[in-house]
Amino acid sequence: MMMTIKCPKCGVEGKMSLIERNYKGPYKCWSCRELFTIDIESNVVVSCQPLSQEEYEKAHPPKPTIDMNVGNARNLGGRRY
Ligand SMILES: [Zn+2]
Repeated sequence: MMMTIKCPKCGVEGKMSLIERNYKGPYKCWSCRELFTIDIESNVVVSCQPLSQEEYEKAHPPKPTIDMNVGNARNLGGRRY
């Protein structure tokens, strides 16, 4: 389901999809790019705490960047791990 989250910093409403009625985790405002830890219980936002970039990356480690030159793009399917 889609949840509307109002940014406490700039007041812009953003949407995020939830699988469950309860969620606790990072939220990033699309407008001011501020990071928050939000706590949703039964589809209601019960808390919204500012989150530092460092903490956010701890929770969501940045994905390895893919070098999008032609050679790599062609080889994506056969990427070895
Ligand atoms: Zn914002």
